[in-house]
Amino acid sequence: MPDAAARRSRLVVLAGPTAVGKGTVAADIRERHPEVWISVSATTRPPRPGEVDGVHYWFVSDADFDRMIGAGELLEWAVVHKAARYGTPRRAVDTMLDDGRPALLEIDLQGARQVRETMPEALFVFLKPPSWEELVRRLTGRGTESAEEQARRLETALDELAAEEEFDVTIVNHEVHAAAEELVALMTDQVSGPEESTDS
Ligand code: 5GP
Repeated sequence: MPDAAARRSRLVVLAGPTAVGKGTVAADIRERHPEVWISVSATTRPPRPGEVDGVHYWFVSDADFDRMIGAGELLEWAVVHKAARYGTPRRAVDTMLDDGRPALLEIDLQGARQVRETMPEALFVFLKPPSWEELVRRLTGRGTESAEEQARRLETALDELAAEEEFDVTIVNHEVHAAAEELVALMTDQVSGPEESTDS
């Protein structure tokens, strides 16, 4: 009989400062690497134009979120940018890991710290901007937040940058495709062993 524990894959957690491009890197992986499963978080924030329920997030009410917390359905959850709650549904993650699939969480720092407590065996990857100036440019250029919201997020980002040392690996997000490929290579190594890597 195959040993189920031996086939279980290692969870990879991607975090980093606000506006570093975690979501864009995750979207790139979602599009080009269907072999990688990316957790769909629950959130109490309303959908932005183009966001689809069940694809980008599970958009839920405050009451639903309370129920999920109460029922122990969330692996971690946090209030992000003092604005809304976000959390990772636990069951889907467990299923993917049991199936031995590469599984990725793209979450904020508070969430990553919670996962570190409950699943210390996960691989924690910090996505870092090439520079502070570039981070400011990306945050203000996105155009989806008000000036007040941007200022709040920059304040959070300063604290978040200092957290790099808590992570196992750092990837610098110079360019989305390259960062995504670096992450997928790391994840594939986790599943199939270092002999599969294609060093040139
Ligand atoms: P946005 O609202 O721009 O999609 O995401 C805001 C922030 O929430 C991002 O930093 C993202 O990483 C974080 N986030 C998304 N899903 C989760 C989650 O399930 N848990 C936690 N802790 N943070 C999340």
